[in-house]
Amino acid sequence: MKSHNALFANIPTTIFTVMSSLAVKHDAVNLGQGFPDTDGPSWIRDYAARAIIDGPNQYAPMMGVPALRNAVAEANKRFYGLDIDPDSEVMVTSGATEALMDSCLALLNPGDEAIVIEPFYDSYVPQIKAAGATPKFVRLQAPDWTLDTDDLKSAFSSKTKLIILNTPMNPCSKIFTLEELQVIADLLIEYDAYAICDEVYEHLCFDHLAHIPLMTLPQMKERCIRIGSAGKTFSLTGWKIGYITACSALLKTISAVHQFVNFATPAPLQIAVAAGIVAGDDYYASLTQDMDHGRRILTEGLSRIGFDVLPCEGTYFLSVDFYDVAKDKGFTGSDLDFCKWITSEAGVAAIPMSAFFAPENGEPPQSLIRFCFAKKEAVLNEALRRLSEFFE
Ligand code: PMP
Ligand code: GLN
Repeated sequence: MKSHNALFANIPTTIFTVMSSLAVKHDAVNLGQGFPDTDGPSWIRDYAARAIIDGPNQYAPMMGVPALRNAVAEANKRFYGLDIDPDSEVMVTSGATEALMDSCLALLNPGDEAIVIEPFYDSYVPQIKAAGATPKFVRLQAPDWTLDTDDLKSAFSSKTKLIILNTPMNPCSKIFTLEELQVIADLLIEYDAYAICDEVYEHLCFDHLAHIPLMTLPQMKERCIRIGSAGKTFSLTGWKIGYITACSALLKTISAVHQFVNFATPAPLQIAVAAGIVAGDDYYASLTQDMDHGRRILTEGLSRIGFDVLPCEGTYFLSVDFYDVAKDKGFTGSDLDFCKWITSEAGVAAIPMSAFFAPENGEPPQSLIRFCFAKKEAVLNEALRRLSEFFE
């Protein structure tokens, strides 16, 4: 038989699926794959249910239903002061994953380079390579994950087509500062490059830190593709509704990809998400508050057990260093071994941080793992009880 596509035939199953399957097998509390265990607001789900009964249930417009495109444009103004034309500068996709793929395929040619900041969300590298381009890595170092300006500058070259910027950042929970964003913006102008801005955690910022879209900086509107996701903003990860904000010239090519990747996304869900986006400030405040509650419970509990908990500015993930607790138990394996071990033996699943680093860019950290705290208080407490009992 002839061989399959050389890239995808050799890619293993994502770490999220691997760890979730292991969690099911061992009946573990799953703090691995990032998803909330409480579905988003019932009033948003009511909208979807009603739209399914009353329609529309045929193909949605390729660019997305007008109500949702209007809502995304309005949200850009309301939260960030951006003036966006809903008709030519917004497109709805099947989740941020599709938006990222459409953007990579729309912009990258073979021979181009795309800058990826480590630790990175796992879809970026295959998506860049699928377009025939080459990823160039810039590594951030724990525990602060500060962007080193010299490292970033040396990653740029005349071949650089774009950077993928994720803020707030999965897995390390960093929020990029205005100063860091300005360095990126200056380099984009100097090298005539673009930014794919993965901002799916835009509404999950803690300790009064603000999310700043790169697109809001001077001269960045024409260079940035801003991606959001209802999965994160409304705790509806299963709906897979994402949205792109980009200038019309960029969006024209991105939509040319979208029309052949999925063409359109379920109309009833788009209508419900439109209603969600225009919700009052109280909705957005309660989202952050609820997540912050989980963050505090997990931070306190894991610290008490002896984990070294790293700073968490945004997203719903907490990174911890397990070196000390593991040493006390005589454990000497990798971060992946550690995650498998606590899943099967302690009954709590997590994600090894090395999954977010490129093997070709040197040794990843060996004793960092990621826990998701978007869970009910009782679930977090049960996970902590199990870990505490195991490591005592
Ligand atoms: N980007 C990041 C940083 C993510 O964590 C995720 C996972 N939710 C995605 C993109 C994909 O989002 P979606 O589920 O909307 O495709
Ligand atoms: N974004 C989620 C995470 O980081 C996983 C999404 C997925 O499983 N594809 O855990």
